[in-house]
Amino acid sequence: MMMRVGPMGPIGRPGDPPVTRQQIRPGTVRRIIPYAKPYRWGLALLLSVTALDAIITAVNPLLIAFVIDDGIIPRRVAVVVGIALAIVVLALVDALANYIQARMSARIGQGVTYDLRTRVFSHVQRQPLAFFTRSQTGSLVSRLNTDVVGAQQAITTLLSQTVDTVLTLIVVVAAMFYLSWQVSVIALITVPFLLFPGKVIGKRLQRLTRETMQLNASMGSLTTERFNVGGAMLAKLYGRPDEESAVFATQAERVRDVGVRQTVTGRAFGIIMALISALILALAYGLGGILVIDHAFKIGVLVALVALITRLFGPVNQLSNMQINVLTALVSFDRVFEVLDLKPLIAERPGATALPRACGNGMAPEIEFDRVSFRYPTAAEVSLASLESIALPMPERGDTEWILHEVSFVAPAGKLTALVGPSGAGKTTITHLVPRFYDPGSGLVRIGGYDLRDLTLKSLHDTIGVVTQDAHLFHDTIRANLAYARPGATEQELVEACKAARIWELVASLSNGLDTVVGERGYRLSGGEKQRVALARLLLKAPSVVVLDEATAHLDSESEAAIQRALQIALAGRTSLVIAHRLSTVREADQILVIDEGRITQRGTHEELLAAGGLYADLYRTQFARQEATEGGLAGEVPTGNGPVR
Ligand code: ADP
Repeated sequence: MMMRVGPMGPIGRPGDPPVTRQQIRPGTVRRIIPYAKPYRWGLALLLSVTALDAIITAVNPLLIAFVIDDGIIPRRVAVVVGIALAIVVLALVDALANYIQARMSARIGQGVTYDLRTRVFSHVQRQPLAFFTRSQTGSLVSRLNTDVVGAQQAITTLLSQTVDTVLTLIVVVAAMFYLSWQVSVIALITVPFLLFPGKVIGKRLQRLTRETMQLNASMGSLTTERFNVGGAMLAKLYGRPDEESAVFATQAERVRDVGVRQTVTGRAFGIIMALISALILALAYGLGGILVIDHAFKIGVLVALVALITRLFGPVNQLSNMQINVLTALVSFDRVFEVLDLKPLIAERPGATALPRACGNGMAPEIEFDRVSFRYPTAAEVSLASLESIALPMPERGDTEWILHEVSFVAPAGKLTALVGPSGAGKTTITHLVPRFYDPGSGLVRIGGYDLRDLTLKSLHDTIGVVTQDAHLFHDTIRANLAYARPGATEQELVEACKAARIWELVASLSNGLDTVVGERGYRLSGGEKQRVALARLLLKAPSVVVLDEATAHLDSESEAAIQRALQIALAGRTSLVIAHRLSTVREADQILVIDEGRITQRGTHEELLAAGGLYADLYRTQFARQEATEGGLAGEVPTGNGPVR
């Protein structure tokens, strides 16, 4: 049974139910135990020193009672010195206990954080592409940070705090009763007064804290979005800086107002607590004083009692927050488990075989689509509502439209198959089925005669090289980006790959050469250059199958010619499936598939299709021929609609 917890974790949205009303999935507590298990000895030590600390807390006031009543008042120096020494020893022991407590708590806490983080990271990495298209990176990052830390606290802070609080309460109350049951009973009657402000103001404070975190988060994401290159450009182009500032000011205003309320409430809480504490102390001194005057007990006992009472305030307060803290931590654990429970849609079959590596060297495998129909998975199938990038109501299973309808074709081994068609026809979707970014809804995709689903993912991904239109480069050096494909590549191999991809000239001209950092999103390189770096990366990987979406952005005739050569080298001898945007590519293609509304409507070579008339001839006439005329046949774009209109 799956019960949803708040979609934003401990931060939550203002409308979220309070944590005490959020339901934790059954079994959460049981599932936490394995995470604590490796640390059991550390935990045992942590709890032991915590107990020791609690005991010393209560023993100290008793020593004060002795030193006053049995040492100072009867003027016995030896007793005074003895007890003073005992207090020193206890303080040393307590210091050591506190140190061990801090050390164990940090080690276990960081250890658990590490375990959870690495587990979540590698699990999320194994999710299908669809998961990432659906999930908001920020929410994922928050699972790795906020929730993992929240969960970790359940194991260390909370556990030791609970033991500390409960033990301190027991020991202190016992010591009080030992000294004077009358004063103890009266002191305990006042406990609810201590709890009351914690309940009322504490709740309000918690709500304000959530609200602050949420407002800060949305102000942060607004800033990030507006201050990245794309956002800044839009704001300038549409002349909207004033409006943008106004939107930001509104957000900042809310942060300010909530900030004021939060601080005032926090201070009010402190003031009220101080007031109540003062009243309780007054009561204790008043009542205790009368009892001392009546010789009911000695003055040292009174001083010790008051000291013990002040030691009650902390634990009592802790107690009032305990339930909320425990539940918050459990919610965090639950949210981490929720991610760990995601079943990857694309999983390897048990006993999957490895695609023989014999393919290669002109022995590339053929790719076959056998009556493949496909629809994109619904959000519910691939993601968590709480990680969704768009807060749409989740459609039920089967709600998405079919994108491909009974697509059948063979991309022959070692040959170039070009995909052409209007935008939204389904070309990218077809290419995404080859590396198993998605599985077909019905029908089969085969590679070298094997159903993709019977192959190990590693062997499949080793065989296939993919270059997307907006090739992604990590924020790192060109060398590191290239070595990603082949970690042990030699300098010479890197240079040769760059040369073959027609990017070496550019790389060599940079002052740091291969060690130039390509900025976030490879921003300093143009689209065409980025794609050539990606081609060099592909050449290093030397896959026998290539899936490529030709870049259309930022092309000039020169880079067009460079790309054309680079492509010829990259595709030679490999089974290639290319979403074609260039005249040269369709001319060289051994087979062109014309895709329209998820179906293959025509197939053949450039000449055959031109002669046959129909969609391909139409596309050619309306846009492609014009490109040929203006660019002298050297460069041109097939009007697939994916690129910018020129
Ligand atoms: P093309 O590459 O021919 O332009 P695509 O294969 O990208 O076409 O898209 C085909 C159809 O699939 C379009 O209608 C598009 O809206 C839809 N589509 C593409 N990607 C997704 C996705 N991740 N989730 C849902 N629908 C998608």
